[in-house]
Amino acid sequence: MNVVPSPKSIAPESSRAAESARPAALAAATGVLSIDLDAIVANWRKLEKTAVPSECAGVVKADAYGCGAGPVARALLAAGCKTFFVATLDEARELRAAAPAAVVYVLDGFLPNCGDAYAELDCQPVIGSLDELAEWDSFCRRSFWKGGAAIHIDTGMNRLGLGIAEAEGIVPRITAGDHGITLVLSHLACAETLNHPLNAKQASHFRGIASAFSGVPASLSASSGIYLGQQFHFDLVRPGAALYGINPTPEADNPMQPVVTLQSRILQVREVARGDTVGYGATWTARRPTRIAVVAAGYADGYFRAAGSSDGTRGADVIIAGQRCPVAGRISMDLLAVDVTDLPPNAARRGHMATLIGDGITVDELAHHFGTIGYEVLTSLGKRYARQYKTARADPADLPAAAPEAK
Ligand SMILES: *Cc1c(COP(=O)(O)O)cnc(C)c1O
Repeated sequence: MNVVPSPKSIAPESSRAAESARPAALAAATGVLSIDLDAIVANWRKLEKTAVPSECAGVVKADAYGCGAGPVARALLAAGCKTFFVATLDEARELRAAAPAAVVYVLDGFLPNCGDAYAELDCQPVIGSLDELAEWDSFCRRSFWKGGAAIHIDTGMNRLGLGIAEAEGIVPRITAGDHGITLVLSHLACAETLNHPLNAKQASHFRGIASAFSGVPASLSASSGIYLGQQFHFDLVRPGAALYGINPTPEADNPMQPVVTLQSRILQVREVARGDTVGYGATWTARRPTRIAVVAAGYADGYFRAAGSSDGTRGADVIIAGQRCPVAGRISMDLLAVDVTDLPPNAARRGHMATLIGDGITVDELAHHFGTIGYEVLTSLGKRYARQYKTARADPADLPAAAPEAK
């Protein structure tokens, strides 16, 4: 297990690490979120290899699941990723700045009167209903825009997408040629459960309609679907979560590398007498003379309140001085308390960093304590952290441009 670095060792080693927050900002930061861009690239390569000969896209919606859309997109581009998915037009605008030549799909589809934005950004809506398609077609006719669009077909999720019958209705248009449809896609509802019967059912519905859309590339699988086997790969796969280290196969070991490290500052170490309580609600009682480290992260930073502990229940762990220590009492808005009594004296010190994610504490483990999934852990990561991007790439052109500063 790695020793938790002292504040000083967080300063960048410029020969091998690219940093977006300046050293001074890091020294003053109460929390530091480190994103390992090389691990994201390694994960993308692994997914690409698993899905070959299908193309492997990159899903960077929700600011690349909290990891930073710009830096992540630049790293993936340099690795050879050509196609990206975002959720909204605002996200498309941010991505376009980082990836001028990439193919960009917008999953939320075509909103009324937003055609000009699609043309200006040269990105493609993922059209999810016949109404959207009609509006898109009329925009394209009026503006002579030929940027193309994807068609989303619902095969059992009942979220977005044309019904199968509706999709069959536009097959004549496909056969007639010059149809402006660059991709046909559907989305699996239960891909993380290997033997869920809906997987095969959705794949079979999709296979039927995709073959009717002859000549149009087809895409069914996100992260987990890639691990359901080749019959789920079609022409293009769309991983998001797995890129960021979340386990796409929750029933088995995680094939992905961890990406995110989250550290926060120890503000104070205090002695608590036996019988005294810690935190709001006095839910946690010291059963022995206890040493408590107070760490500067709380639910406003995306460290969910559900991870707290009480006399009856254990909460999450935090790593201090290289050892796992249990959270003591409730998580506050900006603070949490950790029982460090079992550490050697003086091992937990004011100003040192505690590791909340990393060094063996995975996003998925924390999600378990939060009562949620890794996706929600990452997309909830707070805005108060200083961000640090790690990559061994030497070419300064590959380094991420300005990212949010420490606050
Ligand atoms: C979010 C999303 C993805 C990526 O899913 P992951 O499970 O994160 O890999 C792919 N396709 C669609 C339609 C999505 O909404």
